[in-house]
Amino acid sequence: MINNAKSLHVLIIGGGVGGLALALFLKKAGITCAVYEAYPYKEGAGGGLNIAPNGMNILAALGLADDIIARGSVTLEHCFRSEHGKVLARIPYGNISKYGQPGVSISRGALYEVLTKEINKSGIEIKYNKRLLSIDQYNTGVKAHFEDGSSSSGDILIGADGIRSKTRNIILPEGPQPGYVGVIGVGGFVKITDIPELTAQELNRLNYTFGARGFFGYCGADQGYAMWWSNLHSETELSAAALQEISLDKVKQEMLTIYKNFHLPVAALINKTERPIKLNISDIQSLPTWQKDRVLLIGDAAHAVSPNAGQGASMALEDAMYLAKLLRDNAGNYKAAFLQFEKDRKPRVEKIVAEGRKRSADKEALSPLKAKIRNIMMSIFLTLFGIKGLDWLYKYKIDWE
Ligand SMILES: Cc1cc2nc3c(=O)[nH]c(=O)nc-3n(C[C@H](O)[C@H](O)[C@H](O)COP(=O)(O)OP(=O)(O)OC[C@H]3O[C@@H](n4cnc5c(N)ncnc54)[C@H](O)[C@@H]3O)c2cc1C
Repeated sequence: MINNAKSLHVLIIGGGVGGLALALFLKKAGITCAVYEAYPYKEGAGGGLNIAPNGMNILAALGLADDIIARGSVTLEHCFRSEHGKVLARIPYGNISKYGQPGVSISRGALYEVLTKEINKSGIEIKYNKRLLSIDQYNTGVKAHFEDGSSSSGDILIGADGIRSKTRNIILPEGPQPGYVGVIGVGGFVKITDIPELTAQELNRLNYTFGARGFFGYCGADQGYAMWWSNLHSETELSAAALQEISLDKVKQEMLTIYKNFHLPVAALINKTERPIKLNISDIQSLPTWQKDRVLLIGDAAHAVSPNAGQGASMALEDAMYLAKLLRDNAGNYKAAFLQFEKDRKPRVEKIVAEGRKRSADKEALSPLKAKIRNIMMSIFLTLFGIKGLDWLYKYKIDWE
């Protein structure tokens, strides 16, 4: 066993939210690492995310919260409405004095740009076009083999390679596999100047509209943009070919059929969409373990959280900071760090995974009567318990010192 954290070398598989944040925290802890990402670096790629106050606190620990706030839109409350625009409940969200940071909505591309800039500034090695193929574990270390025929060696390997994690398949070949949850996620970005109906208040909050035929959400995004998202219920998932051929006109048509009578500015947001996003939403059951010998999973690879929880990125960020702290504090005893990590993180993330599943169920299409009852219940429950109900989530902080 290595008895000095600083002599550990960590291989990080996956240059997503969790992998990039882990690399930055390891650097802070004085531990060397390299990141291996399957794809080439693409600017501006991906859909939109809301980073919750707990996730923003992690970015603040990296000194990046101000950059994220400057690039995205601060979100100050959750606002729940019926399809006619009646406010069902409003819950304060970005209470800085309470949580330390506000929530921020931002494109995945902008978030990656901020993290990658910091990685490059820190001199951390990040290798693109490195798709993990297999892992060899020895008494003395670990070796990752990539599809391009190259390989890299280290002391431990962290699988931060997302919901379809190859690392997970290697260490848990009989483990659960991600499955389609019967929902297709649809969304898009819109220039704010194209939607004069959109108010400043709406841009700075998470707007959720619950109608009988479906759910529609929208908020501010990168500076000058708004974003929206919705769930389409479908028994069958879209094929890879169908996902490649998403047509802007078809997405608009499909969404307007359902949402054209929703309150302002829903139809305008759909009509003015510049870049539509459509994807199958998947889920994975709890894993029996997140580790095997010198390999550990973090982020979606360990515990994919439904997008409906709005917490997957924040969970990956929390994982990254906590793991780096444990590796530092356990003086290179990675086994002790891995065990502690899984023991401490599992209860929190599993609670959030369960919350995400519950929120997906709330967004199902219903008969008009059932939708009315759901909205009344939502209004009562959220008004009574809303703020208190979310404190455990947003107040969470990791003490780096
Ligand atoms: C539609 C949608 C909306 C969402 N909205 C939100 C939201 O509002 N708020 C929120 O907090 N979360 C949201 N999430 C969840 C969030 O995106 C994820 O939880 C988060 O990205 C997980 O981070 P990660 O680093 O674990 O995985 P990822 O961000 O998925 O990164 C994994 C990385 O690993 C790479 N990789 C994969 N396989 C290999 C391999 N074999 N070798 C090397 N590299 C590999 C991938 O290319 C990728 O870069 C949403 C998710 C979806 C799908």
